[in-house]
Amino acid sequence: MRIYLDHNATTPLREAVAEAMAAALRQPFGNPSSIHAEGAAARAAVERARGQVARLFGASPAEVVFTAGASEANNLALQGFLRGPAARGRHVVTSTVEHPSVAEPLAALEREGWQVTRVPVCGDGLLDPARLEAALTPETALVSLLWANNETGVVQPLDRLLPPLAARGRVLHLDATQAAGKLPIDLRRLPVQLLSASAHKLNGPKGVGCLVVRGGLALEPWVRGGPQERRRRGGTENVAGIVGFGLACELAAADLEERSAACARLRDRLWDGIAGKISRVRRNGAPEALLPNTLNVEFEGADGEALLQALDLEGIAVSAGAACASGSLEPSHVLLEMGRSREQARGSLRFSLGLGVDEAQVDAVLGLLPRLVARAREAAAP
Ligand code: PMP
Repeated sequence: MRIYLDHNATTPLREAVAEAMAAALRQPFGNPSSIHAEGAAARAAVERARGQVARLFGASPAEVVFTAGASEANNLALQGFLRGPAARGRHVVTSTVEHPSVAEPLAALEREGWQVTRVPVCGDGLLDPARLEAALTPETALVSLLWANNETGVVQPLDRLLPPLAARGRVLHLDATQAAGKLPIDLRRLPVQLLSASAHKLNGPKGVGCLVVRGGLALEPWVRGGPQERRRRGGTENVAGIVGFGLACELAAADLEERSAACARLRDRLWDGIAGKISRVRRNGAPEALLPNTLNVEFEGADGEALLQALDLEGIAVSAGAACASGSLEPSHVLLEMGRSREQARGSLRFSLGLGVDEAQVDAVLGLLPRLVARAREAAAP
């Protein structure tokens, strides 16, 4: 039996979601844009899912734009808004610890003449509200921030960060991909116009996500070619994927509090065990501001990749840095931005918990880790 502690990379499908998707692959098979009964049935399935997704975020259904995941949603938010008629200037403020699907579109826009200010985080991974506000210029059209960091689980203090930016009339984009389904989200209480999320991080399918666009904010489509999604994203809808996303959101909302509390208890049990059994360990990220499911630990003097592989051989899946960056030997840029040395970043592992993880699994990991860490330290010793 494998133990999967890499839920920030992706999550297993809930059984009910898999069943709903399998059914939706067969019926309704129509094109939601067709006006006959087959089309209308497919349209109804998509619109039902739009309502389920909207409810998870406290948005209205018309504000949900389905995309092929959060990478596309981030591209649509940045490229679509900044190239559109509503952008008032050519300056963007963001942070130094963004996901590549925000960082790379911004770098591309920068090469085309937009200005980008990347505000650094503190040693605990948190942004300083005063520094963020100080980055605004009269030309700032957009502030784009990662709400919860995929590598460290650090959750930015939106209640302190956002009001000063909103008071100055800036459009705000949140990459909420790791927050969705783990933290309560209510867009009626957040001064945010754009929010990205992805189904596969909340026990839904891969390849589908959404951008929530508040208050009719004008966007240039990023995928052109049709009237779908109110002309904001062309292409025949991924009906089965959207159905799965909708149900995953409804189920995530239904048990969010208990699931998050249970996850936090297991995560704390894992950390207490690690700190109790293994010397020279350190937790990365502000402990009071972490996602309930994420634990990022530096094992001083060990090589994280080697430790990851040793755990994998024992049947345990964890991650060193982001999934897309692992395999490369580059240390995590997020940890480097938090002031860790390359060696410290290389010695760090991410454990991310979720549905299906239980106490016995955590204890099994704790039973193995001390020996594997000792071995990894010996192997890495000069
Ligand atoms: N943003 C964050 C914070 C993420 O963790 C991820 C997934 N690694 C993405 C965006 C991209 O999501 P997707 O895989 O749906 O494109």
